[in-house]
Amino acid sequence: MKRRERSWMYDRLDGRNLKPDFLKGVGEFIQFCKEHPTCNDGDKIRCPCPSCDNRRFHDTETVRVHLYKKGFVRNYYQWICQGESLVESSRVQPNQYRDMVIDALGNNQEHLVNEEGNSVEEEPNDEAKKFIDLLKAAGDPLYEGSKLSVLEMASRIASLKCEFNLQHRCVDGFASLMNDAIPNNNQMGRTFNSTKKVLEGLELPHERIHTCPKGCLLFWKGDAQLDKCRVCGSDRYKKTAKGKLIPAKVLIYFPITPRLQRLYATKNISEDMTWHAKNPRVQNTFAHPSDSQAWKHLDTTFPNFASEPRNVRLGLCTDGFAPHGKFGSQYSCWPVILTPYNLPPSMCMKRPFMFLSLLVPGPKNPKGNLDVYMQPLIEELKQLWEVGAMTYDISSKQNFNLRAALLWTISDFPAYGMLSGWSTAGKKACPYCMDKSKAFWLEHGGKVSWFDCHRQFLPHDHPFRKNKTALCKNKVENGMGPHIMCGEELWQCVKDLPKATDGPEALKKLKSAKMGWFKQSILWELPYWKDLLLRHNLDVMHIEKNFFDQLINTVMDVKGSTSDTTSARKDMAKYCKRRQLELGNGNQTMPKAPFALDKAQKKVLCEWVRDLKFPDAYASNLSRD
Ligand SMILES: [Zn+2]
Ligand SMILES: [Zn+2]
Ligand SMILES: [Zn+2]
Repeated sequence: MKRRERSWMYDRLDGRNLKPDFLKGVGEFIQFCKEHPTCNDGDKIRCPCPSCDNRRFHDTETVRVHLYKKGFVRNYYQWICQGESLVESSRVQPNQYRDMVIDALGNNQEHLVNEEGNSVEEEPNDEAKKFIDLLKAAGDPLYEGSKLSVLEMASRIASLKCEFNLQHRCVDGFASLMNDAIPNNNQMGRTFNSTKKVLEGLELPHERIHTCPKGCLLFWKGDAQLDKCRVCGSDRYKKTAKGKLIPAKVLIYFPITPRLQRLYATKNISEDMTWHAKNPRVQNTFAHPSDSQAWKHLDTTFPNFASEPRNVRLGLCTDGFAPHGKFGSQYSCWPVILTPYNLPPSMCMKRPFMFLSLLVPGPKNPKGNLDVYMQPLIEELKQLWEVGAMTYDISSKQNFNLRAALLWTISDFPAYGMLSGWSTAGKKACPYCMDKSKAFWLEHGGKVSWFDCHRQFLPHDHPFRKNKTALCKNKVENGMGPHIMCGEELWQCVKDLPKATDGPEALKKLKSAKMGWFKQSILWELPYWKDLLLRHNLDVMHIEKNFFDQLINTVMDVKGSTSDTTSARKDMAKYCKRRQLELGNGNQTMPKAPFALDKAQKKVLCEWVRDLKFPDAYASNLSRD
């Protein structure tokens, strides 16, 4: 969209001097800005020079100097950011939707590189075209005289659809009805898809990566062109009933960098991203991950990283998820979610700041192969640590090099194994005690038990250590807990182990060696992983719920669910001094346990639960669980 009368904009120099037409044009530009004050910030106007890129405001004289020195950003014939409408009417009002578009997309990296502003004239690239289309949608009314812009309408429809989980067809129906109700010549789409198209440019990028249906590799990078799995020979594509070829399995990857950059591009969030560094703390309280030893350890180990408080500290969570509910098909997928911890406690870990990073397809648990799917994420995290990404911070109106570190993972116990590479099943399940664990198999229960494995961690003179009746009978504990390995020691254990990407053969060999390790986790590829104080966390909520279920079923003596079974009583007799609980009468009778409630006691408990009141979202529905 070239405009002949503005060719002066990219015809700045005559030898080493500014051309008179350029000087005059800049004067007109500044005058234009003054006449459109709604787009300005007080006396300051948006500077269209290549380094400010319409995102920074300066007083008119500074803008004049910038333009003299650097010229205009490419293809900026239409002064849209300063309020020039694409349609020749000049009805310009403050418009938060336009501001949103400029905040989100105005920063075109290419312009920053091209700071010399070589006045090469080109058609707008795809990015720029999206930007212009969005600005147009933010400025154009839905119909002549409407207060609503096309963009506002589209984004409100999209957000209603998500909020109420409306079906596509339902939205289509309403869009079509609305279309009939408002004047003709409107710009309202008749379907959800056409409405959504308006928002396309605001979407953050995602990649669909085909994977081996068995999960051994990604058709990615060097393997992008293959149509059979290099490891197991499975076909990449399958045929539909109509004979069309579709990928057998697709991993969806949502790069984290643009999402973090958008946090810094959003006015009311960017400032909060440094909360962890500037907020005064209450001594001896733990209100935020930045109060933790692990956080401080990272800061002292990598002072260079710590010196920029805008660098992001991330947590990673993953868990299986059955989109069709408990009783639907057995399909489950594995979302991998990243969350930035820089934000204050009121925002940290809240839904808008949980970024879906990978959607690992089902139908089954990826188990050890989770690492195969994590490759693009780990590569990006490495890049964010070693190089960083040039990012515009709207609160300080500066570009800075954004780096990020993954502080730890959070998961339930089975996923702990998938992430760490230490098998969390069986006698060696504890990833700290490892093969020094005192866990043992219960003869009758057929399960691993950690009964009385914890006295060794008590202070040396603790009275429990000498107690021969309350815990394991006749046992005095004099031992000390096992040595807890630090990151470097752990690295020495895993550094020669095969990785999930080395294929099933190598892993099978490792598994048969029964070392406890079943792979070298891909997380070790992060250069700082062995320097972290804490690598993996357990999600307390999972454990609490499971523990509560066991406890309540046992106390209420629920048939089939109680842990107080005859085999438990038999095992108990072997380890504990509790004669009164042992099976009597040649294993025929099971004496009632003092912890099981009788009928009257159960009634009291049920009535108490019925009258319990919790704030919204603090408890699940007890009648359902
Ligand atoms: Zn400038
Ligand atoms: Zn394969
Ligand atoms: Zn342990």
